[in-house]
Order: sequence, then structure tokens, then C-alpha cells
Amino acid sequence: MIEFKNVSKEYKNGVRALNDVSFRVDNGEFVFLIGQSGAGKSSIIKLFMCEERPTSGQVFVDGVDILGLKKKQIPFLRRSFGVVFQDFRLLPKATVFDNVAFAMQVVGASPREIRRRVPEVLSQVGLAARARSYPHQLSGGEQQRVCVARAIVNKPSVLLADEPTGNLDNEIAHEIVDIFNEINRNGTTILMATHADWIVNSMQKRVITMEHGRIAEDREGGDYHIGNASY
Ligand code: ADP
Repeated sequence: MIEFKNVSKEYKNGVRALNDVSFRVDNGEFVFLIGQSGAGKSSIIKLFMCEERPTSGQVFVDGVDILGLKKKQIPFLRRSFGVVFQDFRLLPKATVFDNVAFAMQVVGASPREIRRRVPEVLSQVGLAARARSYPHQLSGGEQQRVCVARAIVNKPSVLLADEPTGNLDNEIAHEIVDIFNEINRNGTTILMATHADWIVNSMQKRVITMEHGRIAEDREGGDYHIGNASY
């Protein structure tokens, strides 16, 4: 369970990115976060990751108010989350295998666990045959699949995705969303910020619509619409 309770965020430059935002995502849900550029979607993701702190309000992860965590506890909190970004952020000089393995090394997994788990997760995203390739040898869709593998390799309870299909054409975006769907069916909660109206409309999941730092709408089986305009 992840939750915002009356969260506001004002950045140092005075921009109020979030204004009294409250919502809760239960275990196993798949939720889309939509809204125009600047509406506050990325800020929400950064607050869950403790990359930013709210100006006021509370952020809960599995019932724990994460603002009360000590600095040394934050890495443990981050393990509850896998994150996928629009710009893949892979290590360019590391193979596909090593990119995913690195995420396990940083949490102290043994070489044996790594040898067992990395091929498993690469198969899950359809990249078993590309383990020895380097990112530049892969298509955009394949690179994003490596990122998804990296995000889920430590079995996080929640997958946060910030415009994960923003750099992909529709067909490839579809493949990524199919993988997300399967990850969700296996029990992982998903919160995905997106501008891809056709994905949101085809999936009929819960949709939280942000407008100027506030929740404008929060609806099950929602369609993609922002104010009167669609993207
Ligand atoms: P979205 O992801 O919906 O595009 P963001 O959360 O990135 O929205 O941004 C919300 C608002 O906060 C925007 O006005 C943006 O310019 C501002 N903002 C985001 N990050 C920062 C930052 N680190 N410092 C100052 N302003 C920021």
C-alpha cells in the first residue's frame, strides 16, 4: 500500500508542484497517473522514492510514514520500489546481464543468487538471448525491457514508471505495457505516469488525473481526458 495524505510540495524556487494531494494505492492495483506536463506527476514519484521531501503532509509505504525514516533506512525503503524512466538510464559499458546484476549487487545479493535470478528475469521480459549484448546494440524497446528487468529483479512490491513508453513507438510501447500487465498479474502494484492516451483507454484501469498540482479526478476504469483536451 502506498499513500499520500494532504501532501504539498513547494520547490526552493517557489514553484508549488503539489497542492494538498491525497490518494492511496492498494496492493496489486494498476493505476495510471495522467496530466499535462508540469501537473506534478514526476514530483509524486520522486516523493515516494524520498528523492524529494514534501513541504507538508505525509507519505506512507506499507503503513510506514516515510518522512520519519532515518537517512540510513532510506535505501531499504527504496527496495520496495522498482522504477522505470522514459530515458532508459542503462550503464552503457555494461552488458544487459551486468546492468540487471548491478541492481542486485547494490542490495548485497550473492553471486549465486545473481546467476540464478538475472536469467530468470531476462526471460520474463523476452531478452534471454541478449544477455551478453550492450545497450547500444539494442533497439529502444529492448533497452526499455532491460530497464524493466532491472526494476523488478529484486522483487519490489511496487513498480513506479515515469513515462516509460515516451520514447517508443506504439507497437513497442504495447509490448512494454503487456509486460507491465503480467508483472501486475503476478502481484506487483503499478503506478504509471503517462501521456499515452491509447494505452490508458485500452486498459480501463484506475486513472488519477493531475491538474496544476491537484488531483482533478480519480476514477476506476477511467478514460484519458485532461480538461477538455486529449493529447
Ligand atoms: P510532470 O511530471 O507532471 O510534468 P513535475 O512534477 O515534473 O510535473 O513538475 C511539477 C512542477 O514543478 C512544474 O512546474 C515543474 O517545473 C516544477 N518542478 C519540478 N521539479 C522541480 C525542481 N527540482 N525544482 C523546481 N521546480 C521543479
